[in-house]
Amino acid sequence: MGLVVQKYGGSSVADAEGIKRVAKRIVEAKKNGNDVVVVVSAMGDTTDELIDLAEQVSPMPAGRELDMLLTAGERISMALLAMAIKNLGHKAQSFTGSQAGVITDSVHNKARIIDVTPGRIRTALDEGNIAIVAGFQGVSQDKKDITTLGRGGSDTTAVALAAALDAEVCEIYTDVDGVFTADPRVVKKARKIDWISFEDMLELASSGSKVLLHRCVEYARRYNIPIHVRSSFSGLQGTWVSSEPIEQGDKQVEQAIISGVAHDTSEAKITVVGVPDKPGEAASIFRTIADAEINIDMVVQNVSAASTGLTDISFTLPKSEGRKAIDALEKNRAGIGFDSLRYDDQIGKISLVGAGMKTNPGVTADFFTALSDAGVNIELISTSEIRISVVTRKDDVAEAVRAVHTAFGLDSDSDEAVVYGGTGR
Ligand code: ADP
Ligand code: ASP
Ligand code: MG
Repeated sequence: MGLVVQKYGGSSVADAEGIKRVAKRIVEAKKNGNDVVVVVSAMGDTTDELIDLAEQVSPMPAGRELDMLLTAGERISMALLAMAIKNLGHKAQSFTGSQAGVITDSVHNKARIIDVTPGRIRTALDEGNIAIVAGFQGVSQDKKDITTLGRGGSDTTAVALAAALDAEVCEIYTDVDGVFTADPRVVKKARKIDWISFEDMLELASSGSKVLLHRCVEYARRYNIPIHVRSSFSGLQGTWVSSEPIEQGDKQVEQAIISGVAHDTSEAKITVVGVPDKPGEAASIFRTIADAEINIDMVVQNVSAASTGLTDISFTLPKSEGRKAIDALEKNRAGIGFDSLRYDDQIGKISLVGAGMKTNPGVTADFFTALSDAGVNIELISTSEIRISVVTRKDDVAEAVRAVHTAFGLDSDSDEAVVYGGTGR
């Protein structure tokens, strides 16, 4: 008998019908002879609604209290799911992240899992239960405060539990049939990928393909847990994310040259205008940002439009950290020495990802040609060995993704990609 971890995203449990549908699926897995651990997200857009509510009472809610609020979303779905399973005549018990032994550091709103001690889950399984665990939450090791793992963090909970329980597979159930060559909400001709390596999936995830969270893929790679991303609405095979290619029929699925195109409109750009062109300036800007516990993405330095002898330094960061970054830089203005700050949240990022880039020199040129043919202006560029990313105007993103997808021959010639649920929020 094997142990499977299944994770159901918010769109799969958006309402009572969804919860009952998912409950049936879980019971099937149990009837097939598996021990089943289920990680569940908050229903539908509950997390967004709770954040909106918090912002109505305070423009910058305290991290600790926001975590306490947001974890309520997953408590609702885990309890309802356990009830629905019991209603089908099977034993189930729900657990908060803390009860399930998900131990984190104490960085509120984006805590990292540092240990998983699933003793209670094991006992529940041994007693014949299906264990339902609230995703996205844990408890901090030092202060014993409730924490959350960052948006989309239930994926990480699932993989961390799969690793701690030595599961055979971690199944991530969502509202599309797997990982596609682009977001099916933007590219109708996107193709489902049968197998993708951890490396390419990591790049796609960190470039904005929210179908899997970056930290979850990182965790899966570290513990070599295969992930199967699939739809909770269809019975189709999904996408395998693992270290080695899978077999399909009697042939092996090959590593694609280009895995896909990702986009991200959740970032903003800050430009520090009029920075003295001398050693140590960039260091003090980014030290200030790091001390505020903000992660940045792309960085570029230009000769300043303000005056000679000065430079402008631009960087991108999550929009949700914009206010905090501006406040931190303003506070340290005298120390750093700059003219002004510009904040721009009307940007978007498009990334092309594929291990084949390393050995195919024309890829970069083709990427820029596709963008230029689509009339898209590029503001920032960054690359890794297996990724090229550009920042453009937000309004150009959808068009740019489709143009690049077509230019690299990724368009499917059969069916349109299906999106079964969710609001895309
Ligand atoms: P869940 O609620 O199940 O966690 P998410 O909304 O977090 O679902 O993730 C699924 C969504 O990810 C899809 O509906 C799709 O719009 C989006 N997505 C972005 N890029 C991709 C991609 N390359 N392949 C599949 N889905 C993608
Ligand atoms: N409910 C949380 C969110 O919306 C976590 C998750 O869905 O994975 O971000
Ligand atoms: Mg998700």
